[in-house]
Amino acid sequence: MSSSLDPDLTGQKDLRGGMSPWGGAAAHPHRGRLTESIKTDVLIVGGGITGSLAAQHLAALGMDVCVVDREQPGLGSTTASTAMLQWEIDCPLAELTNYYGFDQAASIYRRSLAAVQGLTGLVQSLQIPCLYRPRSTLYITSDDGSSSELLAEYDLRQRAGLPGQFLQHRDLLSNFGIDRAAAILSPGSADADPLLLSWGLLKTAIGQGAKLIDAMATAYHASSNAVVVETDGAFVIEARHVILATGYVMPDFVGSALHSTASSWAIATEPQRDENLWPGGELIWEASESYLYARTTRDGRIIIGGGDDETVDPAARDAKSPEKEAFLIDSLRRLWPAADPTIAYSWSGAFGETEDGLPLIGEVPGYPRMLAAYGYGGNGITFSFMASRILAALCGGQRESWFDAFALDRPSPIG
Ligand SMILES: Cc1cc2nc3c(=O)[nH]c(=O)nc-3n(C[C@H](O)[C@H](O)[C@H](O)COP(=O)(O)OP(=O)(O)OC[C@H]3O[C@@H](n4cnc5c(N)ncnc54)[C@H](O)[C@@H]3O)c2cc1C
Repeated sequence: MSSSLDPDLTGQKDLRGGMSPWGGAAAHPHRGRLTESIKTDVLIVGGGITGSLAAQHLAALGMDVCVVDREQPGLGSTTASTAMLQWEIDCPLAELTNYYGFDQAASIYRRSLAAVQGLTGLVQSLQIPCLYRPRSTLYITSDDGSSSELLAEYDLRQRAGLPGQFLQHRDLLSNFGIDRAAAILSPGSADADPLLLSWGLLKTAIGQGAKLIDAMATAYHASSNAVVVETDGAFVIEARHVILATGYVMPDFVGSALHSTASSWAIATEPQRDENLWPGGELIWEASESYLYARTTRDGRIIIGGGDDETVDPAARDAKSPEKEAFLIDSLRRLWPAADPTIAYSWSGAFGETEDGLPLIGEVPGYPRMLAAYGYGGNGITFSFMASRILAALCGGQRESWFDAFALDRPSPIG
């Protein structure tokens, strides 16, 4: 069993609690119903950001695409995201180098950078109204952290050809007003409203001919020619390929010993006065075990998230919200004392992680023609973009050696 979230019993309401600020007054995409059994080139199960990116890309390539979702797409983990669209991976380059060697680790980081560039280009070319903003990131030492580890990380990034600039305490304080030992300032990331992004992509895919169906996939019969998928209604869908994009709710047969489920919390403040925000709106994240990150929004709010722990049960997760809100307010005061910490939104969510911080993308072992896209961790959306490109290639019969870094059955680097 790959996840401790039961795939039959875990709905969207279990994946997130509280209220996030996303979506505005936008209308959700319309789901049709199955009135007969159908055949399609690709069936995508799950219409969150992962399924939406895949649907748009495959439809644009001219494939016949069908997306099924048993609930309203986007209202699962996607709307719980803080949508910091970073190329820097949760697992530092130094740690990834320890696991896989420098060449492979550097190549993965460069692919991640290219994924955010690709996403930015896509949103701009399709003009998706999702409050998308190219951003720099500021990777700061923790409260009591020293600069030496960050400097070593920076040196490795330089060697890998990744963009960025090392800031000592004095420059960090004078340029950003942040009182930490050091930071790495890097261009090339972005932020957005994840729900608007997901819905915009899905609507684009529908405009390109994709079908969005209100149905639950209940069983999969995979063979060398096709996959027949049973639904909760009377009809089946036969597909040349199936892409599983069910988020943190993974079917039992998709196993990975690398994966575990945890919980994460976030708050958004009331809009701040301009002078109370850091001027460039950088995505700030901290080099610490407890995981802390902050961003701003177009309407001047500060979002701060983190305090992750191993809670899996949704009720236990939501019961911890008051304590986590207090932790996040305290963290905000220490990071950015000028902020008005009044909370406007507070939410929590299930959070899937892997041992190496890399996603699980590729063929489902033992199930021909079935592919999976599980973009875990804080880089979920970056990895979902990468998944859409990898899985489109696999549907077209093209395999590249770098895909192996994300294979579902890769061995644990920790042993
Ligand atoms: C608090 C928090 C903060 C985060 N911050 C960031 C961040 O800053 N940056 C980032 O990149 N990522 C972040 N993430 C991660 C990101 O939110 C996820 O990686 C992403 O939302 C996963 O999207 P998804 O489409 O795979 O899953 P979901 O949005 O959960 O979509 C899966 C869909 O599958 C459907 N489904 C499931 N089973 C079936 C079935 N059998 N039949 C039909 N439909 C089915 C569900 O109804 C659902 O709509 C964060 C996550 C959390 C919780």
